[in-house]
Amino acid sequence: MIEIVQSENPVLRKIAKDVAVSLITKPKIKKIIADMIFALDSQNDGVAIAAPQIGVSLRIFVVSGRIFDEDFIRGKGSTEADLYQKARQPDLVFINPVLKKISKDRKLMAEGCLSVRPIYGKVRRATRATVEAYDQNGNKFSKEGSGLLAHIFQHETDHLDGILFTDKAKEMYESFDEINSIKDKNVS
Ligand code: ZN
Repeated sequence: MIEIVQSENPVLRKIAKDVAVSLITKPKIKKIIADMIFALDSQNDGVAIAAPQIGVSLRIFVVSGRIFDEDFIRGKGSTEADLYQKARQPDLVFINPVLKKISKDRKLMAEGCLSVRPIYGKVRRATRATVEAYDQNGNKFSKEGSGLLAHIFQHETDHLDGILFTDKAKEMYESFDEINSIKDKNVS
């Protein structure tokens, strides 16, 4: 069991440190990434996770391959059994990510956070964003995202800078309902 730390934990307020590129493929970093994926998979509504959320103050985030599953997005076929029976798209690993291009066009989208349970709210974020990062093999790459993925990029890079979505959110509310899909809100 990997613990997902909650908002009172000071690690979530630290500026996370870059990973030395020469260490990316070493066992220590591989283990951290594996732990992040394990923690993310343990939450059936989770779409992404940043390293500080498992108590590690390093600049790494992972986006779940689930977000490329149309059924998951629409809220159909999103039971745990469905999720694991399906061929999953690979999870995307971003190490030392930098937001490069951010659209001026912004949109309010509902979101939540694995570290701020059970609060939800709406955050205005850019509708398109490009991230430059290293992957888990130490190769530099660039990924453009729009809509949900763009919002995730911004939520995750905020985590690496000690910012929580509740610092920016409007119309916040608590909900203890079981959430099986990201149709209404994305949780990362
Ligand atoms: Zn979060």
